[in-house]
Amino acid sequence: MFDSLSDRLGGVFDRLRGRGALTEADVRTAMREVRVALLEADVALPVARSFVDKVTEQAVGQNVLRSVTPGQQVVKIVNDALVEMLGADASELELSVTPPAVVMMVGLQGSGKTTTTAKIAKRLSGRDRKKVLMASLDVNRPNAQEQLATLGTQIEVATLPIVPGQQPVDIARRALQAAKLQGYDVLMLDTAGRLHVDQALMDEMKAVADIAVPQEILLVVDSLTGQDAVNVAQNFSEQVPLTGVVLTRMDGDARGGAALSMRAVTGKPIKFAGTGEKLDALEAFHPSRVAGRILG
Ligand code: GDP
Repeated sequence: MFDSLSDRLGGVFDRLRGRGALTEADVRTAMREVRVALLEADVALPVARSFVDKVTEQAVGQNVLRSVTPGQQVVKIVNDALVEMLGADASELELSVTPPAVVMMVGLQGSGKTTTTAKIAKRLSGRDRKKVLMASLDVNRPNAQEQLATLGTQIEVATLPIVPGQQPVDIARRALQAAKLQGYDVLMLDTAGRLHVDQALMDEMKAVADIAVPQEILLVVDSLTGQDAVNVAQNFSEQVPLTGVVLTRMDGDARGGAALSMRAVTGKPIKFAGTGEKLDALEAFHPSRVAGRILG
């Protein structure tokens, strides 16, 4: 992930640092190269454009060009802008409510939603010592509910008993009641995905959210899908009150654009990164670390 972007940016910045003095034209040339590198990494166009505009304005203004190490200063401005683009500080789940706190997972089919539901449940029940209940509301995909139950057994987290034929809103209601009666700290709701964003899906999610009143609604996005991931995120964020994003398949060789665009497109923090198929392959998302990796 980010390898080719990192190489491209490394080249631009080596050339900048190599010069003693910098003119405004040098900065503008470098920023044009940065823009191309971002677009080739699949960063959404408006995101790349506003990033480069901001960096250019800061680098050309102030006293950067007259400083002793102008190249170094420009790289620092880029680093800071990159951290900001990724969401500044790391964001944790906000679960400090009277239990049960509800975490609702949404996203397209195949994005890694069910796996991520189990990963987060494992983290909450292990590291955070929470009593967690998981429920699958996916009545479309055959065996989706069984898949979650199997994962639950593996990670020793309870799942809501399956009632064949029950519809998502009713499952959500039953899950909430079970979580309350049985003293769970956190209820995780894994919703149904679709192959593409469609209105029926959105309406179903809104109905579930109305019933369950989640503290967190996390959009699960496959980072391998590049520009498509950006479109999906835009769609979801317009219709569902998301509180955060989880990027899956960060272990793959995605070009990274989805990760870089997600914060700007949704306005919500990236909370976790999925880094493998195993159920402990989940990391908190740290913008400054990711920026550091990109800039080497
Ligand atoms: P869902 O349809 O959105 O619920 O997707 P699933 O959770 O069933 O995941 C689809 C596939 O992606 C499964 O084979 C998962 O093991 C795999 N997967 C999920 N997250 C990751 C990840 O972060 N990295 C990798 N390499 N595979 C993942």
